[in-house]
Amino acid sequence: MKYPDAAPMILGDTVIPAGSTKTVDLQIARLLSGTLIHMPVHVFRSENPGPTVLLSGGLHGDEVNGIEAVRRMMSLGLFNDLACGSIIAIPIINVYGFLFFSREVPDGKDVNRSFPGSAQGSLASLVAHTMTDKVLPHIDLAVDFHTGGASRTNYPQVRYDPEDAEAIRYAKAFGAPIAMASPLIPGSLRAQGFHMGVPIVVFEGGESMRLEESSVKDAIRGTKRLLSSLGMCAHKAPKIRGLKDRHGKHSAPRHLSQTTWVRAEASGLFSFERESGQAVSEGELIGRVRNPYDSYSVKVFAPFDGFIIGHNNMPLVHRGDALFHIGRESEWPA
Ligand SMILES: [Zn+2]
Repeated sequence: MKYPDAAPMILGDTVIPAGSTKTVDLQIARLLSGTLIHMPVHVFRSENPGPTVLLSGGLHGDEVNGIEAVRRMMSLGLFNDLACGSIIAIPIINVYGFLFFSREVPDGKDVNRSFPGSAQGSLASLVAHTMTDKVLPHIDLAVDFHTGGASRTNYPQVRYDPEDAEAIRYAKAFGAPIAMASPLIPGSLRAQGFHMGVPIVVFEGGESMRLEESSVKDAIRGTKRLLSSLGMCAHKAPKIRGLKDRHGKHSAPRHLSQTTWVRAEASGLFSFERESGQAVSEGELIGRVRNPYDSYSVKVFAPFDGFIIGHNNMPLVHRGDALFHIGRESEWPA
């Protein structure tokens, strides 16, 4: 635990004593116009010692569900009466991407491939460096909120590093409808956390540039369950909701592995017959790709028994484009 005796936290140049709440504007760099860009960091501290948890969104600037989830947690006052420990809430890590409705920073680089970053680096590297240097040293664990990208939607799910026993524990406590192991990607925030001994769980829900209420709600419900399991939240943990069955009823949550993307075998108009969150059987018809002049129609089948965890909402696809992300049910690691 980083603050076992509830000592003051010094974030940037700001001293944040236990029992206080402060917003710190971490300076990143200037826009073309000369306007200085800051990353606002909201810190909520209990007087009682406990874990420091980072809750962050907008590492990809167009993934609005995560931004809204963290904003709403603060607006609901979720962190106002912590039983112990501290919350560091950052609704938008990549402020540049947010301003330009973009996943990346304006020079096209992905912050989530730029860790650890450098104080002398380009924009993405500067944002990553700010997180590595100013934020990660203070935290014990994190949940980073994402969505699918480029018209691909993800059913609400948590992803954890299978090599990290603590991350597995936190992913379980979060209790998303779907959980899956996901190896670390070099240069990602999660990989940087791992190098610094900070387990980071990623929540994915919905798609970029589209607010989706059920994903936002699942993000908040999961966070309440996690904080409650850490003894930080006096509220009762919400019941775990699983996937919705075909009648709209919630079934049990699922742990999946061996996920694979089913890709388009032809270019054309794509329509899906099954969608994210639904169970599928091997050989079941799940979508079609049709030529707009009706000269061909290609059926898309489920490759095995499993669950659709993401699908493409784009009505026009090229051959090879990802259509459905499907996973097989499996046991949690021991
Ligand atoms: Zn993302």
